[in-house]
Amino acid sequence: MIRIPAKVLIVDDEKDFVEMFSLRLTETGERVFTANSGQKCLEKLAQENIDVVVLDIKMPGMDGIETLKEIKKRYPIVEVILLTGHGAIETAVDGMKLGAYDYLLKPADSKEMAKKLEGARKRKDEHEDRIRKAEQKALLRRGGNI
Ligand SMILES: [Mg+2]
Repeated sequence: MIRIPAKVLIVDDEKDFVEMFSLRLTETGERVFTANSGQKCLEKLAQENIDVVVLDIKMPGMDGIETLKEIKKRYPIVEVILLTGHGAIETAVDGMKLGAYDYLLKPADSKEMAKKLEGARKRKDEHEDRIRKAEQKALLRRGGNI
């Protein structure tokens, strides 16, 4: 089966980090989008059919946790991987309880990042697949065929 590249949105207020991350992911074949704030992240999500958001927790203005809550409210199926520092793992845990798939410690290691992205992508695919099947079933029932 041909693997369709995931659409990944990287959100971080550190522009250098976003650039480096974006370059690495593009090399692995993903379609990468970027944003430098929570607000811009939501704008991007409204424009693009994003699969996975890699979201920095510590950002000025709307922080990562606030942004995560908004993402899950508006796009519950989109998977989120949080970016955090060694001192703030508890916040990442809180984020996972709010629906984030996982977290990555900064500076994120390429292999670790690839593995978690793959997992997030897979979970989204499976979720969408179950929704499609349920929709088909609902349609059939409505048609009186079952
Ligand atoms: Mg930051």
